[in-house]
Amino acid sequence: MPLNACELEIDLFCHGMRLPPDVPLTGARGVSRTRAGLGSGLEIAIPAPSLAKREIWVNVPVAESFARVSPYRLTGDPDRGYAIVDDRGGARYQMRLPKEPSWYTRLTSRDVAMNRIGVLQGTYLGIYVNPVCAFWNYSPRQNCQFCTTGENVGAAEAAVKTIEDVVETCWAAKEESGVTFVHLNGGFQGSRGLEFIAPYVEAIKKDVGLLVGVQLAPEHDFTRYNELVALGVDHFSFCVELLDPQWFARICPGKAHVHGQALYFDAMQYCARLMPHGAVSGEIIAGIEPLANTLEAIDAIAALGAFPTVCIFRPTIGSDMENWPSPRYEDMRRVMQHVYEACRRHWLPIGAAPNIEVSLVVNPDDAVLLAARDAGFYCYEGYRWLARVAGAPVFRRRMRAA
Ligand code: SF4
Repeated sequence: MPLNACELEIDLFCHGMRLPPDVPLTGARGVSRTRAGLGSGLEIAIPAPSLAKREIWVNVPVAESFARVSPYRLTGDPDRGYAIVDDRGGARYQMRLPKEPSWYTRLTSRDVAMNRIGVLQGTYLGIYVNPVCAFWNYSPRQNCQFCTTGENVGAAEAAVKTIEDVVETCWAAKEESGVTFVHLNGGFQGSRGLEFIAPYVEAIKKDVGLLVGVQLAPEHDFTRYNELVALGVDHFSFCVELLDPQWFARICPGKAHVHGQALYFDAMQYCARLMPHGAVSGEIIAGIEPLANTLEAIDAIAALGAFPTVCIFRPTIGSDMENWPSPRYEDMRRVMQHVYEACRRHWLPIGAAPNIEVSLVVNPDDAVLLAARDAGFYCYEGYRWLARVAGAPVFRRRMRAA
């Protein structure tokens, strides 16, 4: 039986896709290896007409060894359109390849190509603003094993991003690509990360007018979060990654030694109480530790009033885990169904913000396609519809430049 759009999204994350050399990718977004390296695949959009959203965006692995033996292959061309064929049974899925924005190659006033400042990952703009995460500078290195930030910042993207360059790139992305949300991240920066990012937040809110998300290692002085909220931050995310303490220490040695897991949950809880319901998220990676830990992590994050963002483990080329296997579809489908159910149990208004489709993960509201259609489902979907309608003027106001 053919998969629905969310099931296809999950299976593509698990298997990747082959790109036959005779299929032209003219005009498509190039494969870029920036930030932690997760967006190193081909950006696609799958029609999902039964959702409040029209499409599901996926950054499909195409370069890793598991993708080269995937049952999925791309077919078509820019004139006739594209489809994905599953060679296991011949199922064919229509999809499109989003165009590369013309501003990507434009130079900022400091002569830096804008795609070396930020890139689109789905419909939002992602910018790694801080210096290279400090875990890469320890000897021996303490970086998270799945990450390639230390290889990418200063290579595929600019090592230093000035506030002016960031503002100009945000402007171009807003005006020409309709971006509503910019996500600023920067790994671990000692106790200076939140302080470093503050002037970027201030400038974007004042000069551009976008929703701004911040993702940095947690800091002990929680009043810094209040300061960033006062500057206009709309979203905080905390990368817990793994729940089992032994797996956490093995895969994220720097985080385990310097922060400890509890700080991630404490900071998440603090921000979830500080900000509107649904404005905070906890990120985890599924497919490394046992499934039961992943399900427990999802419940723990949702119980704090944050929404779980679950990344399906990708053994990215150049990372310490590049030879690890990618996860099983059946497990990941169960995980994503659990995400939706946890959000429903805690009345998290997922999908309320306008035009934020993240291609690197299965968005919690993509997983509506996995949910059982019972009375609770329709109640929650009604609540989400209300949250979208009631939230629209609030988001419009927050997206106005000062
Ligand atoms: S904290 Fe870990 S995942 Fe984040 S940039 Fe540093 S090494 Fe990479």
